Amino acid sequence: MSANVPSKILVSDPGAQNAAIRDELASALERVLDSGWYILGQEVEAFERAFAAYCEAEHAVGLNNGTDAITLTLLAFEIGPGDEVILPSHTATFSALGVSATGATPVFADINETTYTVDPADIARKITKRTKAILPVHLYGHPADMDPILALAKTHKLVVIEDACQAHGARYKGKRVGSIGHAGTFSFYPTKNLGALGDGGAVTTNDPEIAERVRQLRHGGQRARYEHVLLGRNSRLDELQAALLSVKLAHLDAWNDARRAIAAEYSQALAETDLGLPQVAAWAEPVFHLYVVRTKEREALQSALLAQGIATQIHYPQGAHQQPIYRKTGQTLPVTESIVDEILSLPMYPELTDKQQARVTERLKIAVATAQTVPA
Ligand SMILES: *Cc1c(COP(=O)(O)O)cnc(C)c1O
Repeated sequence: MSANVPSKILVSDPGAQNAAIRDELASALERVLDSGWYILGQEVEAFERAFAAYCEAEHAVGLNNGTDAITLTLLAFEIGPGDEVILPSHTATFSALGVSATGATPVFADINETTYTVDPADIARKITKRTKAILPVHLYGHPADMDPILALAKTHKLVVIEDACQAHGARYKGKRVGSIGHAGTFSFYPTKNLGALGDGGAVTTNDPEIAERVRQLRHGGQRARYEHVLLGRNSRLDELQAALLSVKLAHLDAWNDARRAIAAEYSQALAETDLGLPQVAAWAEPVFHLYVVRTKEREALQSALLAQGIATQIHYPQGAHQQPIYRKTGQTLPVTESIVDEILSLPMYPELTDKQQARVTERLKIAVATAQTVPA
C-alpha cells in the first residue's frame, strides 16, 4: 500500500485491540495449551469470579454465547411454552431468538426515541396474564431505564433479565448493568466491549439457585457427573476463551473510557451539523458499544464515507418484529419503524486514533453539507 493512501477505517476493529495486547494474550493461550485441560477448569472459574466482581454481582456463569445466556436464564426461571417475554424490537434479533429457543413467545415493545432503549410505558401496555418476564436491552451500551421496569415487574410478579450484551461495565444510577435485575446476560462476541477470540457469553445474578441452575443447564443439565436432572444444553465457555477474557477484562475500564472520549469528541465535532446525535440520560453511565447518529440522508452519507475508505453500519435495519420469522405477529411499533431507516453507526472502538477520528468527522461534515445541497 502506498504511504499516502490512508488505510480503511472499520466500524469495529477487534484485530487492532488484540494486536495491542498480543503478548499478554499469547501467554494466556500458551498456558491453556500446555495445561492439557480445555473444558470447565480453573480458567473458567477464575474468569467467572473476576467477571462477577466486575459486574458487582454475586455470581457469574460462563457460557458459549450471549443468545444461550438469554435462553438458559429463562429456562432456569422455568419460563417456556405458553409464557410471554416482553422485550424491545429494536435490538439484535438474537435477543428474541434467545427467548424463542425456550418455547416462550417474544412480545415486542417500542423504544424511547431519545435513548433507543425500551419504553416502560409500552411494556406496561403489553403485559398480559401470560407475561412471565421482561428483557430490557442496554442497547448501544446505554442502560435502559430500569426503575420503572423493576416497579412493573414487582406489581405483576415478573422476572427481569437484563440483556447487557452491548453494555459490559455500563452503570444505571451508579449500579453496574447485570446486577440490577434478577439476572444479566452478556455476549463476548469479538466486537463487543469485552470480546473473546471466538464465541463466549455469561449470566450474572445475585441468586445462588439461578446461578446453580444455569451451571447445570450449560452442562447437559447435570447435577453431578452422569446425573442429568434438567433438560440441559451444551453451552460451556472454553478454558481458552476464559483465559483470554481474563486478560482482556483487566483492560475493560480503560477501553470503555476510551470509547466515552471518542463519543465526546464526535458529539463536539458534529454538534453544528443537523445529524441527530446520541443522548445520554441523566441516570446513565454508558459505554458506547456503538455511536449511532440519525439522518434522513443515510444512503448518501454512507456512500460518501465509503468512497473515502470509511465504513459505517446499520444497527439494525429492521426491528425484530419486522423480520420474516416474527412478522406474522403483525405488531406495529411506530418509533422503531421510523428510526430504523435513519440510524447510522460510525466507527467506534477504543483503538480508533485521533487522526482516524478526525478523518471521519471531517469527511462526514463534508458529506452532510453536500447531501443538503443536492435535492433528494
Ligand atoms: C450480540 C448480542 C446478542 C447475542 O450474543 P451472541 O454471543 O452473538 O449470541 C444478544 N443481544 C444483544 C443486544 C447483542 O448485541
